Amino acid sequence: MSRYNFPITRTAAPKAKPDPDKLEFGTVFTDHMFLMDYDAGRGWHDGRITPYGPISLDPAAAVLHYAQEVFEGLKTYKAKNGRVQLFRPDRNAARINESNDRICIPRIDPELFVEAVKALVRVDVDWLPAKKNTSLYIRPYVFASEPFLGVRSAKQYLFVIILSPVGPYYKEGLAPTKIFVEDRYVRASMGGTGTVKIGGNYAASLKSQEEAHKIGYTQVLWLDGAERKYVEEIGTSNAFFIIGGEVITAPLSGTILPGITRDSVLRLLEDWGLPVREERIAIGDIYRASDEGRLSEVFATGTAAVISPVGELMWKDRKIIVNGGRIGELSQKLYDVISGVQTGEIEDKFGWISEV
Ligand SMILES: *Cc1c(COP(=O)(O)O)cnc(C)c1O
Repeated sequence: MSRYNFPITRTAAPKAKPDPDKLEFGTVFTDHMFLMDYDAGRGWHDGRITPYGPISLDPAAAVLHYAQEVFEGLKTYKAKNGRVQLFRPDRNAARINESNDRICIPRIDPELFVEAVKALVRVDVDWLPAKKNTSLYIRPYVFASEPFLGVRSAKQYLFVIILSPVGPYYKEGLAPTKIFVEDRYVRASMGGTGTVKIGGNYAASLKSQEEAHKIGYTQVLWLDGAERKYVEEIGTSNAFFIIGGEVITAPLSGTILPGITRDSVLRLLEDWGLPVREERIAIGDIYRASDEGRLSEVFATGTAAVISPVGELMWKDRKIIVNGGRIGELSQKLYDVISGVQTGEIEDKFGWISEV
């Protein structure tokens, strides 16, 4: 039994559920949300589940001025046997506190975080679609609600969880994406906030993404902030390259977001006896490997899409096609295994699943 008992106020007007065949990413929200307040001197208090709806904020609320906000993203899956399961929610609980620490937001008890997620999912479990490649996306976030215009950490915060039934993240499904290598804007630099999931990072990335979209690219591949030479991440996912049979990904050395999917991929590859190098690699070396026929796969990892294969890269007006524009063997296998564990079709040998 949980130590937490969050009072529930049920909606008087449940909404119609969306057509599971037409689900997009993050456009429809369920009937309820979780709220919890923080006041300096009192700590976190009054965790509760209420009908989903607008939040009233003072126009001076600090988040609206200085972006003191962190978030997480995870999913609920319906297993074949009807069980409702989460994938490594303890990692999200740990990571939201790393983000909180970095921008001076008070920590949330990790057990409370996971219990709040589960309590809300239980209330809205009918919103969890059963169709393949659909799930219930969970968005926990914390922001500074104190009305105050001085620049300092706030004394009041709100912790919110909302749920959204989702279809596949990319409309193309597992089809390989076209990625623009960004050599003007940067996402993160040493000593900055690239290692944490905070809203401000994403506002700063929109310009680059929009320019890439305009010329037909799905996402951007970020290079390091100092030299714009080493590959870092793809949009809001971690990036992997397979060169000469070796898997390479950027190390967690101060500018990379520590993805939970990234970590799961590393654990699986290790288990399969495949060599992985967590090392910096220059974009020029990736192009050279492609010219020499040694670049076999490129893929991005993240909760939303799990594994997203890359079929094309464009850097300084030079295009390369990866694996003939088709999904690679390892990308497909990783997708099948991780999504198989998430939906209970494959044995959970690492203890990644937490039942709701
Ligand atoms: C969320 C995120 C990821 C992926 O993390 P997961 O835990 O695998 O979903 C990677 N990079 C950035 C910048 C992110 O925000």
